[in-house]
Amino acid sequence: MVHDQTFYGSDFDALNAFDPDIADVLLSELGRIRSGLQLIASENLSSPAVLTALGSTLSNKYAEGYPGRRYYGGCSEVDKAETLAIDRAKELFGAEHANVQAHSGASANQAVYGAFMKPGEKILAMSLPMGGHLTHGTKVSFSGKWFDAVHYGVVKETENIDYDEVEALAREHRPKVICAGGSAIPRLIDFERFRAIADEVGAIFWVDAAHFIGLVAGKAIPSPVPHADVVTFTTHKVLRGPRSGALVCKQEHAAALDKAIFPMMQGGPQMHTIAAKAVNFKEAMTPEYAQYAKDVIANSQQLAASLLELGIRPTTGGTDTHLALLDLQGIGVTGRDAEARADAAGIVLNKNAIPFDPQKANIASGIRVGTPSVTTQGMGIEQMKTIASLIHRAVTEGDADPDHPVSQEVRAGVTELVDRFPAYPR
Ligand SMILES: *Cc1c(COP(=O)(O)O)cnc(C)c1O
Repeated sequence: MVHDQTFYGSDFDALNAFDPDIADVLLSELGRIRSGLQLIASENLSSPAVLTALGSTLSNKYAEGYPGRRYYGGCSEVDKAETLAIDRAKELFGAEHANVQAHSGASANQAVYGAFMKPGEKILAMSLPMGGHLTHGTKVSFSGKWFDAVHYGVVKETENIDYDEVEALAREHRPKVICAGGSAIPRLIDFERFRAIADEVGAIFWVDAAHFIGLVAGKAIPSPVPHADVVTFTTHKVLRGPRSGALVCKQEHAAALDKAIFPMMQGGPQMHTIAAKAVNFKEAMTPEYAQYAKDVIANSQQLAASLLELGIRPTTGGTDTHLALLDLQGIGVTGRDAEARADAAGIVLNKNAIPFDPQKANIASGIRVGTPSVTTQGMGIEQMKTIASLIHRAVTEGDADPDHPVSQEVRAGVTELVDRFPAYPR
């Protein structure tokens, strides 16, 4: 479309003139992203196109309901955005139905409970300390307070999902819903096995693909969509879209899930975010994105292999995805100390419990690293080797003090990398 407008929604100069405090935060956050290595496995750097849709006047519009059946007037334009987002999500994932209104991954998950379960009924999901998620029935979450959660874990020797345990618990408890997916699972999930178990006990099979859906979109790993009744996901992790959520499902569950999102769980949808999701789904259909998804995995495999060579063991022995979970017990450092030492040197990652972790969650024996952001910046195999040695040096000999000589030395290495592969290049 030819521009005949001078204003689309975002105006940094106007913000800066009115509220320099917040304008400063925007700029200094951009500076923080650019100056360090972002290795948080659940983060990425979304495109200027996505950010533009987010910063638009679509934020103003109330549009409770779905395209063509709204509870407000004036929805002709936002209907177009939501219809594009729905059609693109269906095409991208080969899905029968899509709902793009969830405000986040947790909201999409809430809709699964809302659609299929009554309070007190049973869900079978991965336990949080073994790699699951808060919304999979932990006591501090609505999911564990209102529903009866039974949890499976991993096999001690392989640190992979214990499918025999899943099967035994499913037979014993006859859950309403069986969930696969989590936040710290470095390996592929056997969706066929889960499907067979769910069929045997008559359960709904739900895949929470929040972490890895971007790899599915890029066709770099197998898709859960043909196997699952419903797949929920976030759009801001590997997928690289706006901070939000969505779900795809079989047609037979479409009405129940749509009703669970609205009016059961949410009010008005965020139309600016839905427009940004449409942009993101279009990006994810490109050959460039497919290559990106493959590179993300190649990079994380190299990072894990290089760390192993340096004596830092990846759980399960490596990774098939965008993340590696590293066991620091062999080098005698806690996850908490490792996170602080890396942070002081400009490497942003998070402490994480590993399977059978002897430490409390706020200390932890592991760290989780992911390659979505650094791969977006264009880094490749050689840079992963460098990053592994920077992590190793910071974690084993570094200090939480940014002025410590090792912090300074590692930070110099980080600066060299981010100067060559900048985030949001000028
Ligand atoms: C990130 C994540 C979520 C939650 O997503 P939010 O957008 O933070 O609510 C849910 N499930 C899994 C497995 C996740 O990794």
